[in-house]
Amino acid sequence: MQYHAFVIKYAEIGVKGKNRYIFEEALVKQIERVLSKCDGEFEVSRVAGRMYVEAKDFDFDETVGQLKTVFGVTGICPAVSIERDGENRLPDVDGVAKAVIDFVDGVYPVKNKTFKVKVRRVDKSYPMDSMELAAELGARILDAYSEMKVDVHNPDILINVEIREKLNIFSEVIPGPGGMPIGTAGKAMLLLSGGIDSPVAGYMIAKRGVDIEAVYFNAPPYTSEKAKQKVIDLAGVIAKYTGKVKLHVINFTDIQMYIYKQCPHDELTIIMRRYMMRIADTLAQNSGCMGLVTGESIGQVASQTMQSLMCTGEVVTDIPVYRPLIAFDKQDIVDISYKIDAYETSILPYEDCCTIFVAKHPVTKPRADIIRKHEENLSEKIDELVKTALETDEVIVIEK
Ligand code: ATP
Ligand code: MG
Repeated sequence: MQYHAFVIKYAEIGVKGKNRYIFEEALVKQIERVLSKCDGEFEVSRVAGRMYVEAKDFDFDETVGQLKTVFGVTGICPAVSIERDGENRLPDVDGVAKAVIDFVDGVYPVKNKTFKVKVRRVDKSYPMDSMELAAELGARILDAYSEMKVDVHNPDILINVEIREKLNIFSEVIPGPGGMPIGTAGKAMLLLSGGIDSPVAGYMIAKRGVDIEAVYFNAPPYTSEKAKQKVIDLAGVIAKYTGKVKLHVINFTDIQMYIYKQCPHDELTIIMRRYMMRIADTLAQNSGCMGLVTGESIGQVASQTMQSLMCTGEVVTDIPVYRPLIAFDKQDIVDISYKIDAYETSILPYEDCCTIFVAKHPVTKPRADIIRKHEENLSEKIDELVKTALETDEVIVIEK
């Protein structure tokens, strides 16, 4: 079956009232962006709550694979689309019936299925109305394929026929990722480690239309180039959906060593985390991000008890900290990680800056007042170290 168009379904963005066109335009832009990476010629158009992609000389799997990365798309319907003739006429009923019968044959080699024909006649000048045409096409399909049966309530195949500026025929709906188009919600700063959780957190926030910038705290020579490359690759997983991720690599070694020297070891992780949050906050505000994003989830580890989250969260006061995984079980996070193709990279066994100096028995119920007091041991030197870390920020732009 030679498809040459896609009908694009989108749900949530259809209900945005006057803002709807903003969302639709963003969706068109994102669809055009991913299609520019595919072989073939494409034209994206938007007509009365419908979006079409017309395609020429394209690879089906590649094109669908790319369309599946566009947030906002709920369904991708491969379609046959037939143009008007030189006199601006659509096919007559025989022509439509032939196209539909060929379509069924091409898409469903096994015929013992139930079906329903649904016609939408937008061009009211077409000589048959929707009901008449649906009934006629149903009868023609039954004539052509005796194994097929009509079921109007719960058909195996719903054959959509649209009489518009063109004749469109489609049945299959390939699920899209849902969410909102990138570019409709502003930008957030993701604290991206090499673990399983933070890439998933970034994906989830991006899915709401948010552009993602990221920061990775690197601790050379305790952590390797490979660990850093892993984070770059994980940023790439997110960039597949957003187009681009600007990744800040912050050298955290001296800060970490200094905290290790000056503070109780069982509080090291919490204090380190507070400095990560402070630095991420500065980066976020410098680049117009409206929030931080982390992969934290209540109770997952000592540094993610409610007490620990209070202690790490309190240092960020001007912008919100979004924690999309806060109530997720690990397995649910793993499922998403797997689905977005991050998992295989996330489980590569490279060291992480947080695991290197980790205490045997980290505090699980830190008290913010005590932590604040111990941070006083860090004097002005820590401010110098933070300043240097920010000044030596290595920016890597990952485009997909
Ligand atoms: P992840 O799987 O995302 O690494 P985790 O379960 O290992 O999470 P922690 O190590 O406690 O949890 O980290 C909690 C959160 O802090 C991470 O989800 C991430 O957002 C942030 N984070 C931790 N380490 C780093 C790092 N080296 N660079 C940037 N962000 C980090
Ligand atoms: Mg981690």
